[in-house]
Amino acid sequence: MGFFDNIKKFKDRIAEVESTVYSGNQSLLKVYERNAKLEAEIAQRTKELDRANKQMLTLQHIWSMMNSSEPLSSVLNAIVNSLQGELGYVYSFIIKPRIENNDSYIQIVASSREDFAQKFAKHFRCKLSDYKMRYPGLEELRQAVINNTIYQSPNIAKLVHGFIPELEEDNLNAFFNDTNMNSYILIPLVSKNVHFGSLIVFSSRENATDNELNFLGLFAKQIELAITITDLFQAVKEQAITDSMTGLYNRRYFEEFIKKEAVRANRQNQKFTVIGLDLDKLKQINDVYGHNYGDIAIKAVAEVLKNNARSIDVAARMGGEEFNLILPGVDSDGGMIAAERIRKAINSVKLDKIDKISASIGVATYMEHTEDVDELLEITDQAMYESKRSGRNRVTLAKPAYETSWQEIAIEAFVDILKKHRIPIDNNVSNNMMKKLQEMNINNEKLYQVADSIVSIYNPEHQIGNVKQKVDLASLIGKRFDLSKESIDKLKIAILLYDIGNTMLPKDILNKKEPLTDTDKESIKQHPIIAAREILKPITNITDIIPIIEKHHENWNGTGYPNKISGSDIPIESQIILIIDSYFALTENRPYRDAKSPEEAIKIIAQETNKKWSEKLAREFIDIVKSELI
Ligand code: GH3
Ligand code: MG
Repeated sequence: MGFFDNIKKFKDRIAEVESTVYSGNQSLLKVYERNAKLEAEIAQRTKELDRANKQMLTLQHIWSMMNSSEPLSSVLNAIVNSLQGELGYVYSFIIKPRIENNDSYIQIVASSREDFAQKFAKHFRCKLSDYKMRYPGLEELRQAVINNTIYQSPNIAKLVHGFIPELEEDNLNAFFNDTNMNSYILIPLVSKNVHFGSLIVFSSRENATDNELNFLGLFAKQIELAITITDLFQAVKEQAITDSMTGLYNRRYFEEFIKKEAVRANRQNQKFTVIGLDLDKLKQINDVYGHNYGDIAIKAVAEVLKNNARSIDVAARMGGEEFNLILPGVDSDGGMIAAERIRKAINSVKLDKIDKISASIGVATYMEHTEDVDELLEITDQAMYESKRSGRNRVTLAKPAYETSWQEIAIEAFVDILKKHRIPIDNNVSNNMMKKLQEMNINNEKLYQVADSIVSIYNPEHQIGNVKQKVDLASLIGKRFDLSKESIDKLKIAILLYDIGNTMLPKDILNKKEPLTDTDKESIKQHPIIAAREILKPITNITDIIPIIEKHHENWNGTGYPNKISGSDIPIESQIILIIDSYFALTENRPYRDAKSPEEAIKIIAQETNKKWSEKLAREFIDIVKSELI
């Protein structure tokens, strides 16, 4: 081979190498490009996955809420709250139609953030909840609701104007421009094939992507599921007849059973006995050893009841630490024996750490003590409290209803009012009062102390001791009118309770320095009704006191309130309360005037004769006050 051949070969070789290197580069470039593409795709996928994951977490949260036994409103609140923040929505709420006179208004059933309502109230100087809002408002929303389709629009002002036509769109625009809300999305909600309401989401973005709308659609499906499931839970709960913690019957079943038992007892002329039982000092057990041990104590009582009950007996947990037992065909002697056996059995249970527990028991018998089921339960309860008062871990037989002393009835009424939170009192205060009432011996001054404290809540000028004076005075007046013991007892209880409706009146009216406006007077005039209808009516042992309290502001000449009845149409007990109340009001300071002296007060009382009260009542009253109080 010649020199040139060699050169050519060499050149070719170089070209070959060059071309290899080039093509290598080319494929490297390709690999690089491919990798970059892949990476972008992975980033995109990761982002999507991340978003999907967040959505999954949200849905999971909803699911866990739905499995709890929360009421629907708190489930829905939690759901709309989960939509906020993480997913970037500013405000969301669920509304439901409320039909009134064939028109449909909005009821907000859940909303995500409280401060929206506050901001709104501040801007418009009127609370959102004070408006009667139309549902669904705009025509386009009506269509969306009818067709069950999602609707979105950037025009929030128009939406709200549709809800509340009296708010100007300009003003609404000014309000929403100041917020981070730039569009809304409405998703109708359907449960069991019926329109339930709508989810409305305020978004910071002007437009929702298809993806986002998909998600919201899915989210709404979860809300619909929550609504349906909560409904089902509720239905199942309502059908349940046993208490899940103890396996005993629940209150619902007990109440049904006792009614039927009374019918059977009447038909067969056969008594039955109720044993009412309350675990002693459970609060202390909870506080010292923890709630778990409290539960153990409750279950231990349930076991004793199960073991001691015959197959025809019904043992129920009425709630908390209260149990009732019905013994068909058993009279009070048999009931006392059974109750004593149960008391002993409870007291001989030995529990880990807690050691011993005890229960206070009351026993009452149908057709011996009373022939009224409500009264039977009431006096069983009174007997149980009597066991508490006299030292706990004991059994007390009920007194026949008519033998219960007026103080016991009053104590029962106060305990009921406090225990069931019928009046707004700070929990600590009411717990202390309850303690006092339950610890005291009958006839004790503590009943007056509690009554005095309750009056002081709405009347800061009230003098401690006045309640007792009023009761004593009422009793003396009652005797002058030859009232029966029963009637005087009713009067005494009414004196303790007649103004309790005042606890529900706004403080600013009660403490007003300037003369009261007509509206103020109107609300004050409601207090006998509030006392009678709202606070006292559910308390069965004072049913006959309620008419007395309702009428304690009626005047002799028919100018009083609330019903403008006159003369002997007004129960004598109510008339006596009016004159006593007026006298004490006159001799106390009021925000708008100073106290009058007893002499001045008597003069005013005399002047009102034949207007507010009868001649005889004024005469007797003044006579007694002069000899007793001055
Ligand atoms: P008394 O002897 O006067 O009945 O005192 P007490 O502490 O048992 O009664 P009180 O009515 O003052 O308190 C009842 C307590 O029972 C308060 C409540 O927290 C507790 N309790 C109610 N239900 C349950 C329950 O299911 N489990 C537990 N551990 N405690 C409960
Ligand atoms: Mg207890």
